[in-house]
Amino acid sequence: MVRPILKFETNVKEIILRTHDVKSFRFPRPESFNYKPGQFMFLTIKIGEEEERKHFTISSSPTEKDFIEFTKKLTGHSFSDALDALKVGDWVEIEAPYGNFTFEGEFTKIGMISGGIGITPFRSICKYCTDKLLETKITLLYGNHTEKDIIFRKEFEEMQEQNKNLKVVFTVSEVCESWTGYTGRIDIGMIKNEVPDYRERVFYICGPLIMIKAIENLLEGLDVPRGNIRKEIFPGY
Ligand SMILES: Cc1cc2nc3c(=O)[nH]c(=O)nc-3n(C[C@H](O)[C@H](O)[C@H](O)COP(=O)(O)OP(=O)(O)OC[C@H]3O[C@@H](n4cnc5c(N)ncnc54)[C@H](O)[C@@H]3O)c2cc1C
Repeated sequence: MVRPILKFETNVKEIILRTHDVKSFRFPRPESFNYKPGQFMFLTIKIGEEEERKHFTISSSPTEKDFIEFTKKLTGHSFSDALDALKVGDWVEIEAPYGNFTFEGEFTKIGMISGGIGITPFRSICKYCTDKLLETKITLLYGNHTEKDIIFRKEFEEMQEQNKNLKVVFTVSEVCESWTGYTGRIDIGMIKNEVPDYRERVFYICGPLIMIKAIENLLEGLDVPRGNIRKEIFPGY
């Protein structure tokens, strides 16, 4: 079912610090607003006298009825700084939903591969599959620079406890003593170990272009058909 696109003015309802440089922003969800897990919004904010707008994935799930959320990595650039300065009650305009990087249970097995802020659509999709008790087998491989950069870690750990069909595997490139998981970038060895049935899965990849290209090459090297690879590129990272 196609969800109608709405354009509406609203106010910040809640701001959540996810990591040292990532924040989620929540807004009241209009009753008539529907979206698919993984879709994105256009967000407009005021910067001085000007209005500026950018794309952001909706990191909440359609099963979360009270709010819609997006999650931004703070980059120190002007739009990002203006977002970082937003307070509860501040004005924004949202136009949504857009995009085809979605999943509502169409496949029995999927793989998700993500780096850094590219996790946002997967937070939405995994939460949706968990809340809807879907039988889809999901393995998510999620790479970060350090352990403290892992976004939604606690949420994914809780979702795994609730959803026996969800497996989330983290890897970090810079380790501290307490880290017992994978180290380094997502590579062929990690895919073969954690997703041994990779030929039976549809893969969703999200992150910066450079990461998407690297993962696409790995998957093609493993003979995963191009038609089984879906991509969402976050420019600017
Ligand atoms: C479909 C889609 C979904 C997205 N979802 C998300 C999401 O969920 N979360 C998220 O955080 N982002 C998301 N993005 C990316 C987002 O729209 C922005 O592009 C991103 O957040 C960077 O914005 P920014 O304002 O921080 O940086 P920008 O100011 O846009 O900077 C982008 C690039 O320009 C360069 N740059 C900017 N200013 C300067 C300068 N003064 N000097 C030199 N170089 C400069 C920087 O090197 C940087 O690499 C999404 C994008 C798309 C297309």
